[in-house]
Amino acid sequence: MSPCRILIVGGGVGGTLVANLLARRLKPEEAQVTLLSQDAEHHYQPGWLYVAVDDMEETDLRRPEKALLEQEVFFIHDAAERFDLERRRVWTRSGEVLPYDWLVIATGSQLDLERIPGLQEGAHHFYSLVGARNLQYALRAFRGGRVVIGIGGMPFKCPVAPLEFTFLLDVYLRRRGLRGQTELVYTFPIGRCFPIESVAELAQRHLDERGIRTELFFDIEGIDPERRVIFGMSGDLAYDLAVIIPPHRGAEAVLRSGIGDDEGWIPTDRYTLQLEGVEGVWVIGDATNIPISKAGSTAHYQARVVADRIVAQIRGQEPTARYDGHVQCFLELGDGKATLLDFDYEHPPEPPRPTRFYHLAKKLFNRAYWYLIPTGRV
Ligand SMILES: Cc1cc2nc3c(=O)[nH]c(=O)nc-3n(C[C@H](O)[C@H](O)[C@H](O)COP(=O)(O)OP(=O)(O)OC[C@H]3O[C@@H](n4cnc5c(N)ncnc54)[C@H](O)[C@@H]3O)c2cc1C
Repeated sequence: MSPCRILIVGGGVGGTLVANLLARRLKPEEAQVTLLSQDAEHHYQPGWLYVAVDDMEETDLRRPEKALLEQEVFFIHDAAERFDLERRRVWTRSGEVLPYDWLVIATGSQLDLERIPGLQEGAHHFYSLVGARNLQYALRAFRGGRVVIGIGGMPFKCPVAPLEFTFLLDVYLRRRGLRGQTELVYTFPIGRCFPIESVAELAQRHLDERGIRTELFFDIEGIDPERRVIFGMSGDLAYDLAVIIPPHRGAEAVLRSGIGDDEGWIPTDRYTLQLEGVEGVWVIGDATNIPISKAGSTAHYQARVVADRIVAQIRGQEPTARYDGHVQCFLELGDGKATLLDFDYEHPPEPPRPTRFYHLAKKLFNRAYWYLIPTGRV
């Protein structure tokens, strides 16, 4: 019997890990593992936050995708243009047609910069390498005034990142002697500063202690770059520097193929990670519509479940691995302290007292990512 064809689309955290796990566990006569990704480089996105505040170098944040893959993984640098789930094939931008027996969609999310009028001209962000670099330059030139940090739409990946940025910015401004002449305003679209209550309580305490003003129920409708005003549903806010997390949506190919909802999030079974109603197709990471944090750790835990399920099915066994909603991430609070958020569907996070240990662990993780995560060592 010829080996079955496993096609993984997307070479981010989830796609790379699932490809490596499958290549390691399956023999060549059992399966050919192919990874299709539109980016020849793999990016460590959490590092963009640190680039913005001059704390990490860009060169530490990317590696050639191929260098992260097991030798047995066949890597194609091309973009999926359209998914044809009925005929089990994927059309690529260069015109190739890739048939598959098993498909894993790990195409992540994309920024929807046009959804908010004035966003591109009037605000900065750190949700791409270019965005982080531009923000770094803007901060270096900043001499004081009001900085507004806000959210352009939900869901967005790494929900703690805007809080972390705010705390790190507070430290950055103090270091540069500019905190006294800077007002920091953190806005959030719902009635607390973070979606999960236990985290919101802790973060709010730290925001208050640092003298950071919080504006809640602040939905951003538009920005006037000339007058430097953010229009919110609950009122307007003037700014000297705006850092707004852009709205997100699913990948273009998902939207084009009509396999997601209106915003391109793919309906996914929260336990099996199977695309709802479609046998042999799994979805992981930011691409799913599962209402949990879109995070690298989510993609990481999900990749392991999907790899287990695919191996079991290829070997004619009943797949038993289930995703329990596990997410784990650090929350940087600045001043050399951080805490850890560890939770799943059943257990909300109970963040431990912020300590230097968690801060150092996050710093170490930022360096060790390349050796631990895409390779599947952890
Ligand atoms: C500033 C910032 C800080 C963050 N901090 C953390 C953190 O501390 N902890 C944490 O867990 N997470 C963090 N995240 C979130 C984390 O980076 C993402 O949630 C994670 O990368 C999602 O993994 P993924 O595999 O689903 O998608 P991605 O890693 O985004 O990968 C998607 C891949 O699919 C490719 N692709 C897209 N469309 C196509 C197509 N049509 N054809 C082929 N390839 C395609 C892309 O090029 C990309 O390689 C942070 C993110 C940001 C921006």
